[in-house]
Amino acid sequence: MCGIVGIFGHPEASRLAYLGLYALQHRGQESAGIVSADGQALARHSGMGHVADVFPKDALEKLPGPSAIGHVRYSTAGSSVSSNAQPFLLRHHRGPIAVAHNGNLVDASLARTALELEGAIFQTTTDTETILHLVARSRASDVVDAIVESLRQVRGAFSLLFLVPGRLVAVRDPLGFRPLSLGRIGGAWVVASETCAFDLLGAEHVRDLERGEVVVIDVAGVHSFRPFAVERAAPCAFEHVYFARPDSRLFGQSVQAVRQRLGEELFREHPAKADLVAPVPDSGVFAAMGYARASGIPFQMALVRNHYVGRTFIEPSQQIRNFGVRVKLNPVRDLLAGRRIVLLDDSIVRGTTSRKIVQLCREAGAREVHVRISSPPTIGPCHYGIDTPTREELIASKQSVEEIRAFVGADSLAYLSVEGLLRAQGVSRDEVCTACWTDDQPVALPRAEAEQLGLFEKPRR
Ligand code: AMP
Repeated sequence: MCGIVGIFGHPEASRLAYLGLYALQHRGQESAGIVSADGQALARHSGMGHVADVFPKDALEKLPGPSAIGHVRYSTAGSSVSSNAQPFLLRHHRGPIAVAHNGNLVDASLARTALELEGAIFQTTTDTETILHLVARSRASDVVDAIVESLRQVRGAFSLLFLVPGRLVAVRDPLGFRPLSLGRIGGAWVVASETCAFDLLGAEHVRDLERGEVVVIDVAGVHSFRPFAVERAAPCAFEHVYFARPDSRLFGQSVQAVRQRLGEELFREHPAKADLVAPVPDSGVFAAMGYARASGIPFQMALVRNHYVGRTFIEPSQQIRNFGVRVKLNPVRDLLAGRRIVLLDDSIVRGTTSRKIVQLCREAGAREVHVRISSPPTIGPCHYGIDTPTREELIASKQSVEEIRAFVGADSLAYLSVEGLLRAQGVSRDEVCTACWTDDQPVALPRAEAEQLGLFEKPRR
């Protein structure tokens, strides 16, 4: 998963991109980067870690010019190394070009192998670089035509920002997997993964890019094209469940409002008799508010999250039970002791976190723990840009709800149904991507990719 932001026509473009990345930090904490354009020259700064760590004080001074694009990365394709940090910047026969990508191409490895056999030399292990190779090889004289021609050759999820001298190009794939919105600050333009970036920049949210839309911004203004054949819509339903920030508007809806409705639907489908509803913070907070409102059971922050735990946290060598989760979450004993609780979270992936949290609640004296999940069981990995483990590691791919309940140690466990999720989001099944819960893939997966992810049996020799 990733977050992208682009600024066009502002004297402090790279500073605004930097602020935008702060607002999008939740979409990727592995690396961050900005490319700015000043006349014919493009400059880049990127590094591993959080936005605050990647940009020292003087870094933005070395990113001059009235336009910039930025990226925060959470790898789905390619490993977590600095050479994979985006935006990528390179020179080709039309001049310098930079790209920032949110999404995942389903056929990138096939396209890459074909390009490598023809002599292409790749600098990174990401699917995004494949797009740049295709752009460089295109015979189209204009770079926007080359971008469109290249994107016609790949399939999957792509919300993209390209920066070339004098132009910013924003693209959303024909199925619209990932969000991308257009905003305005005075005479300048902003494009960002989520509208929470506009709030921080004081920008007005003009509209969302439509699926399959290409927006070119230059000194003359915004030009929109729809060069791709659009079929079904497939915006990711998990964005509203977990990924996006609750203060954003996404795919035309308020994220916090959708999350509260998920909680209400969950109560209707799976009521529980309890004394309080407690979210797993932060991901379960709004769904828990919805569950509490629908049930009349009081909402309580019975688990408190420590926001200062970084990735570099070093565990003591001596084994301390539940240390890993306890450093992030601490139960409030006074709220839990002797009480029956509904513990609300957005999803169960491997099941290890839920198991530890249930145990924490019991150790704090909870009498009953009823786990409620505001999305259906995650049965398959995501091919469209959310980082999920392999199918084998997803607990719901091979265990029943009852087996998962026993594993996490809850008194009861229930998930929201796919129908309940669609009702809460106000969409029908062919208007969103539900592949991680239903295996209904909006894009046919190439066999090689599917095999790599263990979807098919390996051919017997
Ligand atoms: P697990 O212990 O593997 O079951 O982790 C479940 C937790 O991971 C839930 O609280 C979710 O909020 C969170 N989660 C779900 N999907 C993702 C994801 N793709 N990346 C990071 N965290 C996630």
